[in-house]
Amino acid sequence: MSYALEAGANRDICRDVNYMNNEQNIYDICRFSKKCGGCTLTGVPYDQQLKDKRKAVAELLSGQCGVDQVVGMEDPTHYRNKVNAAFDIDERGRHVSGIYKAGTHEVVPISGCLIENEIAQEIISTIRRMLRSFRIKTYDEDTGYGLLRHVHIRVANATGQVMVVLVLSSPILPSKNNFVKALVEKHPCISTVIINVNDRHTSMVLGERNITIYGKGFITDILGGKKFRISPNSFYQVNSVMTEKLYKRAITVARLTGRESVIDAYCGIGTIGLIASSSCAQVTGIELNPDAVRDAKVNAKINGVKNVNFFCADAGEVMEKMAAAGVKVDVVFMDPPRGGSTERFIDSVATLAPSKVVYISCNPRTLARDLKYFKNVGYRAKNATPFDMFPFTEECEVLTVLTNGRGAQ
Ligand code: SAH
Repeated sequence: MSYALEAGANRDICRDVNYMNNEQNIYDICRFSKKCGGCTLTGVPYDQQLKDKRKAVAELLSGQCGVDQVVGMEDPTHYRNKVNAAFDIDERGRHVSGIYKAGTHEVVPISGCLIENEIAQEIISTIRRMLRSFRIKTYDEDTGYGLLRHVHIRVANATGQVMVVLVLSSPILPSKNNFVKALVEKHPCISTVIINVNDRHTSMVLGERNITIYGKGFITDILGGKKFRISPNSFYQVNSVMTEKLYKRAITVARLTGRESVIDAYCGIGTIGLIASSSCAQVTGIELNPDAVRDAKVNAKINGVKNVNFFCADAGEVMEKMAAAGVKVDVVFMDPPRGGSTERFIDSVATLAPSKVVYISCNPRTLARDLKYFKNVGYRAKNATPFDMFPFTEECEVLTVLTNGRGAQ
């Protein structure tokens, strides 16, 4: 199998490797894969990656439930809507951008990444070329000297809006207005430019303070027919195409009729709950991160959704209280972080006794553990569907529905 890149899509690679003339898998040609380490499956044909992922998930979930074919991407390239580049100067004094070599402060220059959004990569190259004329010094991780640490870009897939975050060691960007003008002139798709101040000695890309220097300070994407506001620090799935497929399927398998009371646990900025809100009576979103809850409330407002409440707390704790108060819940959506859920949470699900639990997992290992515990409290899954949210990496998202035998299947 082969996926042809669009003409000119990846000029650096086209120049270096005459791959179009042979049958070689085009993914063999990432020149950076060894140094970068991000895509461990480069060189493995995409259909083989999907088969291997299914096998790996089936092994982890064996004894728990069946595993369907992996839902893959039509074009698995350039799916990452969030792109980070670290900046530095090389030994010849030229500006470089890319990623840190593992365990070092040395930037490996990367251009033409096969999984990152291409517009984002072009903007990063433009910024790199602008640095000299604007006399912007790149930050040195060892000495703490210099200004520009990273450029962080987010692209809203459905609306095409682009956010550029300049991560600086100080809030002052020299000739800021001219810099923004020149950048936006070259890339009119940019909707907002933000300075993020990160003055700490840390491996975290973003600091806490954001200063908007162009546009509104956020971008808006559309997912499942609802608008979502994305701020520099908010969590948003990196693969919009697959997220749309995954959430659509999650809501379909919940078979909502419009009458249900629904919980969206680990709700982030409210995506799943807000998409489900038009198909059920009431949604309770629960999320630990206060910034995400703030975004979720704004998202409810901009979509005119009135049947959703968001709580900022531990999901297990809120659900225990709901169970104690005798609240009726029909469907629980849960989308926990990589560590999975907790026994406390699963016990509270059992007490609330919804007819369905729709579990979206980003880590099949912890999913396997949680399914075992769910079995102890009477909830079983028949089968699980993996979604290839992260092509060329070994990561895999998995969707499964659990029932307690009492509700409709
Ligand atoms: N469903 C959302 C977010 C999934 S990521 C989306 O798709 O966008 C998992 C989320 O769980 C994160 O936002 C994280 O902050 C939150 N989280 C982690 N531990 C939690 C807990 N104990 N209770 C509630 N939320 C938690």
